[in-house]
Amino acid sequence: MNLLDIKGVGPGRVKQLNRLKIYTVQDLLEYFPRSYEDRSRICAINTISAGETCTIIGRIVSVQERKVKMRLSLMEIVVVDDTGAISLIFFNQAYKKNFYKLNQKIMAYGKVEYAYGKMQMNSPYVETVDDKTVLTMGIVPIYPLVEGIKMSMLQQVIRNCLDQITAIDEILASNIRKKYKLLPRLQAIKEMHFPTEVVVYEQARFTLAFEELYVIQIGVLLLRNKFGIKYVTKSYEKNGVLIDSFVANLPFQLTGDQNKVFKAICEKLERGQTPLQCLVQGDVGSGKTIVAALTLLKTIENKQQGAFMAPTEILAKQHFESLAQLFGNLPIKMTLLTGSTKASVRKNILRDLANGDIDILIGTHALIQDEVIFKDLGCAVIDEQHRFGVKQRSLLQEKGQGVHTLIMTATPIPRTMALSVYGDLDVLQIKELPPGRKPVKTYGVDSTYKPRLYRFFENEMNKGQQVYVVCPLIEESEKIDLQAATDLYLELKEYYGDRFVVALLHGKMSALEKEEIMQNFASNKIHILVSTTVIEVGVNVPNATIMCVMGAERFGLSQLHQLRGRVGRGDVQSYCILLTDSKGEDARKRIKLMESTQDGFKLAEEDLLMRGAGQLFGNMQHGLGDLKVANIMNDVDILLKARQAAIAEIQEKGFKTVSQEMEKYLFERFGESFMNILYS
Ligand code: ADP
Ligand code: MG
Repeated sequence: MNLLDIKGVGPGRVKQLNRLKIYTVQDLLEYFPRSYEDRSRICAINTISAGETCTIIGRIVSVQERKVKMRLSLMEIVVVDDTGAISLIFFNQAYKKNFYKLNQKIMAYGKVEYAYGKMQMNSPYVETVDDKTVLTMGIVPIYPLVEGIKMSMLQQVIRNCLDQITAIDEILASNIRKKYKLLPRLQAIKEMHFPTEVVVYEQARFTLAFEELYVIQIGVLLLRNKFGIKYVTKSYEKNGVLIDSFVANLPFQLTGDQNKVFKAICEKLERGQTPLQCLVQGDVGSGKTIVAALTLLKTIENKQQGAFMAPTEILAKQHFESLAQLFGNLPIKMTLLTGSTKASVRKNILRDLANGDIDILIGTHALIQDEVIFKDLGCAVIDEQHRFGVKQRSLLQEKGQGVHTLIMTATPIPRTMALSVYGDLDVLQIKELPPGRKPVKTYGVDSTYKPRLYRFFENEMNKGQQVYVVCPLIEESEKIDLQAATDLYLELKEYYGDRFVVALLHGKMSALEKEEIMQNFASNKIHILVSTTVIEVGVNVPNATIMCVMGAERFGLSQLHQLRGRVGRGDVQSYCILLTDSKGEDARKRIKLMESTQDGFKLAEEDLLMRGAGQLFGNMQHGLGDLKVANIMNDVDILLKARQAAIAEIQEKGFKTVSQEMEKYLFERFGESFMNILYS
């Protein structure tokens, strides 16, 4: 069946549906309501009392319109049923006057109030009732919409579709459906759109959330099998002289958490058997790089090679430099490989790598290209994982056999969620920050503060500090945004004249240009860096003490926290200024939260609650981007059951059969690249 087969749907409607990203009947069926309204209780007018929300049905007996104030008109419609009368009040809706005809039978849904001695409803939801299509009686689904698309149209189309459709495929085998008391999928879908009873609805939701999470679990378990269980790794030796002298030469002591995490990693590596697969979570500035360095050293001590992949060139370069500094004169051969590495240099690197003459290869996505071949890759470190999809991670892991994998992220994902995204990764946390860090003072302001801000920047720069100014860049209107960033850059340039150096950094620049600007910023030749969000991840310039975010309403909490993490890296007091003119409730809430806490874990959880997992993780390919029914924060129970079912199914049938049986759904959820990896 296709969309055009649905009663009442022609090419025009299809276009509208496409705007909601509905392209197939399946998309339509899985376009679930965001909430419901209960219009099921039709009340006799003489039984209702003030404060209740209810539905009445009656005939219009009068329509009156009057001016209340200059620009305020009021329309009062009196409706009667067999038991009494009620007034429906509408403001400034004179244009709708003809819609309400005397004697017309209507249904009204709204909150009842008692005013001026009689019962009334203010601005109720109204539909004419012609006894034929009583579509919206009962529990009514409320769908997320975009401008220009009518709720009633979508409700009708979905209802028609459900009336026409007779069967859909089950995702799960019948033994599982029986064991977990799942409803038939079609019934569950119907119930989600047009619930009949609370108990059935809950069963329906459970069914669909379970199915959704089950597919994800199968996916991560298959992936883990592919890279994990099937390899037996050798046991690593106890820490040797490389690690000892590295630790002895550090200019600081490891924090308790850094020690704890590295110890846990060592235990796993020394035990051998299955490869290490772990996620190191630590807030920005918590010192994850040191843990990576230690793990890579351990790999080298055990005669294997290490890879360190970062999401941007700037970051890869910075890791290269800071590791080079940390390693001092330890006998380690380390090389940087990025997209802008010269062909001739690259050729030599690839040769040395294959010969085993390079111990550690640091770089960007360039590391996962086919031509990059290691002699014996033992450990892959992936920084800021949330920038990479399952695919990139897997491609790097595939470059060795049983590669130990350390994923580092500053996005503190709740444990349960980590479980569903990453399968069986061990989650290790660095909660403790290195000593002496001062909290970054954070303020939300509006654009009337600009003059004061510019003077404040000047004061700080006179003391030798540096400033980041971030302008949002969202894909849909890249051009306009880039213009805004450019304008601001010119404005600041003019304002500071030749007293300070202002520079602009944006995503459209070549790696080389970006590189040069970052270098100059790091060496304090640039004092104010105006930038689109390309600096978001990982950059380390301790001398910068102000982070000013323009259009702060356009960033999520986790992003704001990441940005704030660029400052507060030295001993000097740092500031984060969040500038917005938005009056939106969400934006104000986010800024309040930023002002009140520095705790990245707390902020990430709030972010999840406010925006949902999809938003937080952007368009990662691990399949969490668009959960349709399940809620990753609240459905932990369902998640655990789905996981248990997935494990049992794989144990019983084996990986191969399960992956074949689930192929279609895995493909839908994770995409083609995932399947390629699975079958490679
Ligand atoms: P992130 O977790 O954000 O990647 P980094 O590893 O970049 O953090 O560390 C941030 C800064 O803290 C670096 O300048 C690093 O040298 C420093 N640092 C790391 N560990 C310690 C420690 N135990 N004591 C003091 N400073 C540390
Ligand atoms: Mg880092």
